[in-house]
This record gives sequence, structure tokens and C-alpha cells, in this order.
Amino acid sequence: MKFLRFKINGKEKTGILNGDSITEIKGSMLEALNSRQLEKTGNFKIEDVKVLPPVSPSKVVCVGLNYRDHAKELDMKLPTEPTLFIKPSTAVVGYGDNVVYPEGSTQLDYEAELGIVISKEAHHVKEEDAADFIGGYTILNDVTARDKQRKDIQWTRAKSYDTFAPIGPCVETELDPTNQNISLKLSGKLRQDSNTKHMIFNAYKLVEFISNVMTLKPGDVIGTGTPPGVGSMKVGDIVEVSIEGIGTLKNVIKAQK
Ligand code: MG
Repeated sequence: MKFLRFKINGKEKTGILNGDSITEIKGSMLEALNSRQLEKTGNFKIEDVKVLPPVSPSKVVCVGLNYRDHAKELDMKLPTEPTLFIKPSTAVVGYGDNVVYPEGSTQLDYEAELGIVISKEAHHVKEEDAADFIGGYTILNDVTARDKQRKDIQWTRAKSYDTFAPIGPCVETELDPTNQNISLKLSGKLRQDSNTKHMIFNAYKLVEFISNVMTLKPGDVIGTGTPPGVGSMKVGDIVEVSIEGIGTLKNVIKAQK
């Protein structure tokens, strides 16, 4: 099932997405992800609503190099454990929102990623139990000011500008995260095209690794790394990240002023 959050007539709502139709349901996204019983309360068309980020994470935990084909492209050795960094909650935007090209950055890159949505507090979780803590999967674009990443010793600035964490449009609850096509189009041109089976550390391993470092809260999102073909965006570009079984996350790059 595909759950989404949306806004209509100034009210925030939760719904089930079915093609272009939304069935409104009672309660929040997290209640929906943890509930077996859904109370249907209305119907809307997707074109009539504003799609919101599917969750409001306390943090977005991202993983560096995590695709074998990307490591090969970069001629890098495979990591023995995941490299972690965090994007702040203030960087999160949703489907259709603008990504702002920061003044003072000279290289703004896209990174298509599968997003894991945590639905239960996860602390010291084992890989074999990880699925119980995952509410579903979404799409993330790990927008990066590459010039700042190269300049700074650590990645906080490069990864954390406002609007640098587009997520959405929905959370798919029935998805095998270990074998889905993932692709990215930049203004209509295919730039990334791979499959999540090429991940070095799969979704379940990542939940184990990260939850042994920090407690994952309901609504937190994990960015699982990007496949080959990373490149730069310019003002006016339309960036579309697609993952089989979930859909397409679309955003437009805007100038800061
Ligand atoms: Mg990334």
C-alpha cells in the first residue's frame, strides 16, 4: 500500500494513493504505518491536493558509498562498514517542492536513493528483526553541494542546506528493498540507472548498524546511498528520481533569489 500526506483547504491529511486517486484515512502517517485497521474518510484527486513530505523525521541518516557499481565507477575499494552522516530535519521538502541552489555554491549534485522509513523506535536492532521496525520505503534525493563537501573536512555543510533532502511522494509498505530498479532523470535525460540489489549493505543491515549507533525514532528516514551516474544540476533543471514499486519524486532547482 502507498501512503501519503497531503494538504487541502489548509488541512493536513493522510491518505492511500492509488494511481491518481487518494483515499483519505483517519489518523497520522505513523498511525497508518503501524495500524492494521484503516478508517476511510474521503476521496480526492492527486491534482487537487498539495503533496507533503510523507513523514517529518527527527533526522535523516545517510550512508556514503553503498553501491558496488558506484564503487567500481569511482575505482574505490568496497567499505567494510557503512559511512554515516546526517541531514537535518530542516532540509526536508516534499514532492513538487523547489530545491534551492545556494548562493556561494558552484556544484550542486543529485543522488538518487531508496529511503527507509522507520515506524517504531529502533535501538540495538538485529538485522533479522529489522523489518519489524521499517514502516515502508520512500524516495530520497541526497542533494549535495559537492564543492563544499570537497572543501570541508566533514560533510555537514555540504549535505544540510535547506531543501537538500527531498523525500516522497509516498511510503510503500509492501516492497522488497533488495531488488528494485532505481533511476534518475535530469530534465528528461536518464543519468542514473541501477538496481538496489547492488547495495553493499542492504536495508536490514543498515537498520542494524545505525540503530547500534543511535536510536532511530518513528518517522526517521535512512538514505541508503546512490548508484553510479552522479552529476550536477543547474537552476531550472527538473530532477526526477524513480524507484520501481514506489513511484517518482520530482523537484525543480530554483535560484536562491
Ligand atoms: Mg548519498
